[in-house]
Amino acid sequence: MTLRFDILADTSPRTERIFEQVVEAFKQHKVTPNPVNFAVWYTYFNGNLPALREEMDNILQDDYGYADRYGRELFEKYLIDEESALAELDRAIRHLLTSLAQRIEQLAEHLSKQTQQLEVASQKLNQPLNQEELSELTQTVLTTAQGLRENTHEFEEVILTSAQEIQRLRKELLEARMASMQDELTGLLNRRAFNETMAELTVTYEDKPDQLHLIMTDIDHFKQFNDTFGHLTGDSVLRYFARLMLKTKRPNETICRYGGEEFAIITQDESLEEARARAEALREALSQAYLKRKTDGKHLGTITASFGIGEFKGEEDTIEAFIERADQALYLAKKCGRNQVRTEFDQGCD
Ligand code: GH3
Ligand code: MG
Ligand code: MG
Repeated sequence: MTLRFDILADTSPRTERIFEQVVEAFKQHKVTPNPVNFAVWYTYFNGNLPALREEMDNILQDDYGYADRYGRELFEKYLIDEESALAELDRAIRHLLTSLAQRIEQLAEHLSKQTQQLEVASQKLNQPLNQEELSELTQTVLTTAQGLRENTHEFEEVILTSAQEIQRLRKELLEARMASMQDELTGLLNRRAFNETMAELTVTYEDKPDQLHLIMTDIDHFKQFNDTFGHLTGDSVLRYFARLMLKTKRPNETICRYGGEEFAIITQDESLEEARARAEALREALSQAYLKRKTDGKHLGTITASFGIGEFKGEEDTIEAFIERADQALYLAKKCGRNQVRTEFDQGCD
C-alpha cells in the first residue's frame, strides 16, 4: 500500500496522507469501500468537522465498532448540508483521481520496461540455475505488478464513483428531506418544518428580543364554508390562501401550514408594527378577493381570516409560551368579530 502512494506524495501531501489513513482504516475496521463510507472517513481524518470527528471517535470506542449504517447516519447528519466539507471532499476526490491515473500510467510503463529488461537478460544467460532464478524473479515481479494493478483499479473505481455518487445521494437525501418538510396540499412548509424553524430561530434570537415575531392565522367560519361548498372546494381555498401568502412572501419570513386551516408566518428582524402591517395587508388582500370555483364557475363569495401576533422575548422566553401568546392574540381577534389582526399587547377589541 505504501508503495502505491509514494508517487502521489509530492503532488498534494495532505490529501494523500488522509487517503492513506482512509485505506488503512478501511482495512482495520473492515469497512465496505463505498462512497458514503469514503466521504465520512475522509472527513473524519481531515478533521474539518469536529462534531463528526467526536461522534466517530465515540463509535470507534464502542465495543461493536464501526458499521455501514453509521456511515449513512453520519453522512446525513453532518455532511449533507456542509457545503464547504463537501466541496473539500470533491476537490480531494478529483485530485486523487488525477493522481491515480498518472500513477497507473507510470506503473504500466515501468513494468513493461522492467519485464523487457528481464526477458532480454534471461535470453542472454545460459546457465540453467540462473535462468531458473531469473524466471522466478520475473514471476514475482509480474505477480506483484498484477496485484498492484488490481488494487489500484479497485480503489480507482471507488473514487471514480464517489464524486458522482455523493452528489446523487445528497440530492436524493435533500429531496427526501424536502418532502418530509412540505405540506402536500398547499406546498407550504409543514408543522414539522415549523417546529424545526422555531427551534433554530429562538436560539438565534436569544440575545435579540423583540425582533422575532409569530403571526398565527386561521380562516374564519371555515367549517361553514366546507359545509356549503364541499371539502374539495375548501381545499382549493386553502391552496388559494397559501398562494396569496407565497406571492407576497418577503425574504425574512418563513411561511408554514400549522395545521388544518391555520397558518403561521415567522418574521425576522422586524418590529412588531412591521409584522402587524404584513398581517394587515394579507388580511385585506384575502377579504377583497372574490372567489369563483374553477370547475363550474360557481360564485363562492369572499372569505376572511383572523390574525394573532406574538413577540419573542429572548432568553427568558420559551417556544411554547411564544406560540401560546400568538394563539391568545388570534383568539382575541376571533372574539372581537374575526377578519382582524391582534397582537399579544392588545387588550380590548377596538
Ligand atoms: P372560526 O372562525 O372560529 O375559526 O371557525 P371555523 O369554522 O373555521 O373553525 P373550526 O375549528 O370549527 O373548523 C375548522 C374547519 O376547518 C373544520 C375542518 O373541516 C376545516 N378543515 C381543516 N382542515 C381542512 C382541510 O385540509 N381541508 C378542508 N377542506 N377543510 C379543512
Ligand atoms: Mg382552526
Ligand atoms: Mg377557522
